Amino acid sequence: MAGKYRRPARRRMLTLTVQRRERVSPHFVRITVGGDDFRHLERSGYDQAGRLFFGHPGHDQVVLPTSERWMLQFAFQSAAKRPRVRMYSIRRFRPEISAFDIEVVIHEGASNRPAAPGTSWALEAEPGDEVGFLDEGYSYGPTPGATWQLLVGDESALPAILAILEQSTGELPAEAFLEVPADEDVRPKVAAPAGTRIHWLPRNDPSVRPGTLALQAVRDAQLRPGAFYTWTAGESALPTGLRRHLVNDRNVPKPDIAFLGYWKQGKASP
Ligand SMILES: Cc1cc2nc3c(=O)[nH]c(=O)nc-3n(C[C@H](O)[C@H](O)[C@H](O)COP(=O)(O)OP(=O)(O)OC[C@H]3O[C@@H](n4cnc5c(N)ncnc54)[C@H](O)[C@@H]3O)c2cc1C
Repeated sequence: MAGKYRRPARRRMLTLTVQRRERVSPHFVRITVGGDDFRHLERSGYDQAGRLFFGHPGHDQVVLPTSERWMLQFAFQSAAKRPRVRMYSIRRFRPEISAFDIEVVIHEGASNRPAAPGTSWALEAEPGDEVGFLDEGYSYGPTPGATWQLLVGDESALPAILAILEQSTGELPAEAFLEVPADEDVRPKVAAPAGTRIHWLPRNDPSVRPGTLALQAVRDAQLRPGAFYTWTAGESALPTGLRRHLVNDRNVPKPDIAFLGYWKQGKASP
């Protein structure tokens, strides 16, 4: 199952609106999106994620897709009318207000490049702004026989890992290695299964490639005894490097590892 998503059998393109925007810490913005279409979103796995479609600041002619065959719709749209699309994890479902939260990483682009669309959108989104959302499913699924879970990610995977920890309370204890850009991004309180240990790894140095600290920390760690399930995501060198380490140096069976490249250094999402 490594790296594979379990997509929903049936899904539809949801049209939602931004309800709230909150700066959680220097590198995270939490956005609540919801509306009538929320009733069509089926809750599946703990790391459920989807494609978010949004307008670019200043382009008010953007037309959001209305069908899950959005690529076909894109092909017939002029560039000015085409929305931007980026993948985000569902951090928390809020059925009581027909909404869910996402948490977007605020990352600095190189000074000679325009700001990344996801980052600029998250900084400027206002209540009432329309977005599209298409459920892409989930990948998290502990293997039978696992006695604990190893969760490893950079900041892009933090929303998914926090959602996993929060929803798997009462299930497998976790050893979580969470790399974030700065000390201020460390969350003071995390809901997690009993016996969980969280290792916060703030980089505090913009020149260090995201994922480097988490990979090194697991390499150096004395892991718990017993069979375990691994879920890891982030800049692609982290999940692929971690899998290689676990398989080659610790004899972990490949099927016990779910590894997902969420983004690539120096490469914008298509
Ligand atoms: C299943 C899945 C779930 C995801 N969940 C989340 C989530 O909950 N929150 C979240 O913020 N991201 C999440 N991501 C990652 C997010 O989709 C990518 O980081 C995406 O590239 C962000 O778009 P952007 O417009 O900010 O940057 P892009 O325009 O795609 O990239 C511009 C430049 O920024 C770099 N870049 C991209 N992302 C980052 C980053 N996080 N840190 C530093 N540099 C970066 C790129 O390498 C490129 O050089 C998820 C990805 C997947 C596949």
